[in-house]
Amino acid sequence: MHAEVLSVGTELLLGQTVNTDTTIVAKALSMLGIDLLYAAVVGDNPARMEDAVRQALSRSDILITTGGLGPTGDDLTKETVAAAAGRKLVLESSSYERLKEYFGENMADNQKKQAMLPEGCTVLPNDHGTAPGCAFETENGKIVIMLPGPPSELTPMLHEYVVPYLARFQDAVISSHSVHVFGRGEGAVAQMLDDLMQNSNPTAAPYAKEGEMFVRVTAKAATKEEADEMCRPVVEEIRRRIGNFVYSVDVETLEELVVQELRRTGKKLATAESCTGGLLGKRITDVSGSSEVFEMGCITYANAVKEQLLGVPHETLAAHGAVSEETARAMAEGIVRVSGADIGIGITGIAGPGGGTEEKPVGLVYIALSDGENTWVAKRMPFGRRRDREWHRHCSASKALDMVRRYLAGLPVDEK
Ligand code: ATP
Ligand code: MG
Repeated sequence: MHAEVLSVGTELLLGQTVNTDTTIVAKALSMLGIDLLYAAVVGDNPARMEDAVRQALSRSDILITTGGLGPTGDDLTKETVAAAAGRKLVLESSSYERLKEYFGENMADNQKKQAMLPEGCTVLPNDHGTAPGCAFETENGKIVIMLPGPPSELTPMLHEYVVPYLARFQDAVISSHSVHVFGRGEGAVAQMLDDLMQNSNPTAAPYAKEGEMFVRVTAKAATKEEADEMCRPVVEEIRRRIGNFVYSVDVETLEELVVQELRRTGKKLATAESCTGGLLGKRITDVSGSSEVFEMGCITYANAVKEQLLGVPHETLAAHGAVSEETARAMAEGIVRVSGADIGIGITGIAGPGGGTEEKPVGLVYIALSDGENTWVAKRMPFGRRRDREWHRHCSASKALDMVRRYLAGLPVDEK
């Protein structure tokens, strides 16, 4: 089955709104294994919208529109699509009741308009707004789906109602598994997996992701179980080839994986950050359940604070500078002492854009991990194209998380 997305809204054509709806729908369709062949945008103009709808219905099996379902005068999608698809709009009682509950008995006529839906359609309730969506089949067997414009309304409606609705028409299901990799680039991994990437079912495709990469393995089969079964040996083979640079299968982020592993091993973590400015602590505490494993994080920016709070020796700072292997080491050891945690991280470096020298360039970051007994220090050096402050901070925090992951797994803490 082939689909087409038609996004409605003059603001999209004026460049005032980014068309995220199309991206969200495109991802959902690809997960369903439905090919999206066209994605169009049209303004709030009934004649041109009708043209676009007719064209879509003539060349695609599924038409999904986004936007223009609301109560205002320029919200014309339902009227226009219904007319082009040969359907009457009628007052749909369950949606009308929902609106009455929301607005009260004396709701304005334009609000009531939101309950006018194509006769006999499947209603897609809007659990995060007022305008419901709808789905129906035309006389020619085409599927038409209309979704509201705001992404906060469209996204849940899509996943809760549209995906199950469309899955009924699919005789095959798709299952995907992602192998997440830290410490090996997309290009290097692609080379290692060259033969696997030639296969068509399952497919294996590499994707870059802020300083990391992942390989998505996707299989198509009659049932989800069968598709999973087809993915399994490919995922295993990828793990085998990439080795311990693989940090997870299907756990989306390093921080989620690290919190999971800290909980599993019953270990506690504390952080002392300089150039990452608390980003590491933030990423860990973004994960629900992190309170069980995260003791404390401090941003020790000033040298005096590194000395007073963490006990970094004055001589270390004087002899080697704040950005040095020795300082990172003392920060990690200091935070273990201060917090009583099992594992301490110390990060110090130059995030830029200013402050770099020939000897200590922007992007040079030392990351230390201490367990109170042993301390390991990794050195990140900038390479390749010039990167911004946010990039250096993000990648340094990721490196720290990967060191914790490796430590907990009994792997070399810093493997090049
Ligand atoms: P409402 O009931 O809020 O009027 P609607 O279904 O009528 O919703 P529109 O009026 O077309 O939708 O758009 C409402 C808002 O939704 C827009 O101002 C914009 O912020 C967002 N929006 C609309 N279309 C898109 C799109 N394709 N991508 C991202 N955001 C969009
Ligand atoms: Mg609107």
